[in-house]
Amino acid sequence: MDLLIFGPQGAGKGTQAARIVDAYGLANIATGDMLRAAIANETPLGVQVKPILDRGDLVPDELVVALIRERIAEADAAAGFVLDGFPRTLAQAEALDAMLREVGRDLDAVVVLEVPDDVARRRMLERARKDDTPDVIETRLRNYHEQTAPLVEWYRARDKVVPIDGTETIDAVWNQIRDALTRFVGGEAAA
Ligand code: AMP
Repeated sequence: MDLLIFGPQGAGKGTQAARIVDAYGLANIATGDMLRAAIANETPLGVQVKPILDRGDLVPDELVVALIRERIAEADAAAGFVLDGFPRTLAQAEALDAMLREVGRDLDAVVVLEVPDDVARRRMLERARKDDTPDVIETRLRNYHEQTAPLVEWYRARDKVVPIDGTETIDAVWNQIRDALTRFVGGEAAA
């Protein structure tokens, strides 16, 4: 099962992606985590993208597309994956479509965690990751609405979207996701 998980930062994507991965035995692929690891390891990619992440801007499409292309070819992604943080632009969505088609795969569903901006903002401030300053939070919310939210419509037109109310508790959100995926793709969660 190949899934995307969408939602503004603070929607609980990382938490719910981890649950989906555990329940269905999928690979958890988060571009933000991969980029932060590259920065921590001071790889050439990390050095290049550090100022971009510090500002809360988007990394150029070709860099993240290359990362994803390599990652989904790894053995643990053969049974399926949850992509968290990718795609974030139409160019990335089209590149993903093309690379999956090349290997005879297709997305099963796009889980969309819906939370209003004020809830997302409050959760991001509470989480207080080092890059979660108020300015950066506003930039990331704006980027989500301008560049990423339109992708939800793109996937909706392809009948992939599973909308989820992300304002509830972690367990309640997870129950919604599990029930929806069972209905949507007929998959049985192991846990
Ligand atoms: P995240 O942890 O998903 O919020 O990502 C943290 C930061 O990494 C973002 O603010 C972007 O600077 C960068 N990033 C992560 N994924 C992507 C992507 N798919 N396209 C462009 N930039 C990305």
